[in-house]
Amino acid sequence: MSFDYDLLVIGAGSGGVRCSRMAAARGWKVAVVENRDLGGTCVNVGCVPKKLFVYASEYPAAFADARGFGVQGHFEGFDWPTLRDNKTNEIKRLNSIYNNLLENSGVTILHGTAALAGPHQVRIGEQTITAERIVLATGGWPFKPDIPGAEHAITSNEAFYLEQFPQRVVVVGGGYIAVEFAGIFNGLGAETHLLYRGDQVLRGFDEDVRNFAAAQIVHKGVRLHTHTDIRSIERHIDGSLTCSLTSGEALHCDAVMFATGRRPLTDGLGLAAAGVQVRDNGTIVTDHLFRTTAPGIYALGDVIGTPALTPVALAQAMKLVAYWFDGDQQPLSYDNIPTAVFCQPNIATVGLTEAQAQERFGADDLQVFVSDFRPMKHTMTGQPERTLMKLVVQISTDKVLGVHMVGEAAGEIVQGLAVAIKAGATKAVFDSTIGIHPTAAEEFVTMR
Ligand code: FAD
Ligand code: NDP
Repeated sequence: MSFDYDLLVIGAGSGGVRCSRMAAARGWKVAVVENRDLGGTCVNVGCVPKKLFVYASEYPAAFADARGFGVQGHFEGFDWPTLRDNKTNEIKRLNSIYNNLLENSGVTILHGTAALAGPHQVRIGEQTITAERIVLATGGWPFKPDIPGAEHAITSNEAFYLEQFPQRVVVVGGGYIAVEFAGIFNGLGAETHLLYRGDQVLRGFDEDVRNFAAAQIVHKGVRLHTHTDIRSIERHIDGSLTCSLTSGEALHCDAVMFATGRRPLTDGLGLAAAGVQVRDNGTIVTDHLFRTTAPGIYALGDVIGTPALTPVALAQAMKLVAYWFDGDQQPLSYDNIPTAVFCQPNIATVGLTEAQAQERFGADDLQVFVSDFRPMKHTMTGQPERTLMKLVVQISTDKVLGVHMVGEAAGEIVQGLAVAIKAGATKAVFDSTIGIHPTAAEEFVTMR
């Protein structure tokens, strides 16, 4: 049987672009279908524009910090259209780089919404295309709780393109996006309320990290309301909003942003008819080689319910290509995935939390090292910001099981330590490593 393509990938996001480029580079005839912008969530409405906004949000505080060092001048204001439009131009530049990368790899780019249409068949509008293998890499989409007035709320998708910068913002949720955007809005001068239904934000992170980061976030000016959810949103004639909270309080604001999780983007893909099984939460079931329950159909990235991080989608794509071309059947390891939350200051972590380590090895086999200090820079800024570093060590093996940090550049620091953890570094190895002085990072090799 002959097909139009050896491989057709649905979704040109982090996973789909990597998979199609790598397979084309190995000699296959490949097409990728995209119904929005090349680069997917990460490039267009995720990691990249978010990080640009995070940089912006840190400048106003830097002006104030500079005074303690004798640097004169003051912050004169923030122009939202400049930030928004410069960001959009940068994203457009990246879109065209993705276009060139794909074309130069020999990948055919098809624009439109794809759906499975039969064995080895995909429909894009009126067109039906055949492929020996199909990869579903359609990512996710923000979820909004169904409350009265939810239509007045934005999600991270819209936050990147707001007409006006909101002076008062209510962010709902306590995960990565909520905490990062609360930092962005607050840093840029908005009165920022963060509502979280549980007792502490960032569920899943180490308890010390959660508590420490929450205290830092509050010091920076974010008004954190825990044990609080939103009941309804009412829009007034002047465009402002009133949120009714479960606490009985009412908050007046200019924007409400739901950061209440994301759902797999599979609507209209024709999964059921094609025999592609999904879980109750909508994520696609795959085996360790990214094969779905339908022959010839694979899936990877956010849509399969593994950690929703760009480097994970990239690693999955590389693994799938290695399986196809090199016969590599080793499963991808999801242990020790480093991750950062780009709030102020940053959070970064790799390996087990103290609670996870206790559950796995028992409290008696653990030693925990914690350092909580004022970073050198802030001895002169007068800011109350502090840094937390934490190592979780297994006593019987001396292995460092977890590295956690809240502090400036935590993401940059922990990426390097993730290599050490992946290599199985012991506490003795950390202790015998010479520090770089004066840095915050040297604390990780001097904790005793
Ligand atoms: P996506 O990148 O979502 O790509 C899927 C693509 O498929 C999209 O372009 C979509 O338009 C397309 N598509 C969907 N359905 C169809 C269809 N039927 N036909 C054609 N095309 C279709 N991760 C990090 O590692 N670090 C971060 O700092 C970070 N920050 C983030 C910030 C935000 C605000 C968000 C929302 C996410 C962030 N992420 C971050 C997560 C990261 O963006 C995702 O994990 C990653 O993009 C997933 O890649 P993917 O290939 O699975 O899907
Ligand atoms: P998360 O799953 O991280 O967080 C969702 C939050 O919303 C949780 O605090 C959850 O509460 C809360 N929530 C869920 N449903 C409701 C509801 N009905 N009402 C009120 N609150 C609710 O999702 P995000 O949207 O923040 O991010 C999605 C993923 O994108 C992340 O998990 C991460 O993998 C990725 N990402 C990565 C980033 C990075 O690497 N820096 C940055 C941004 C996103 P509860 O805890 O109680 O369940």
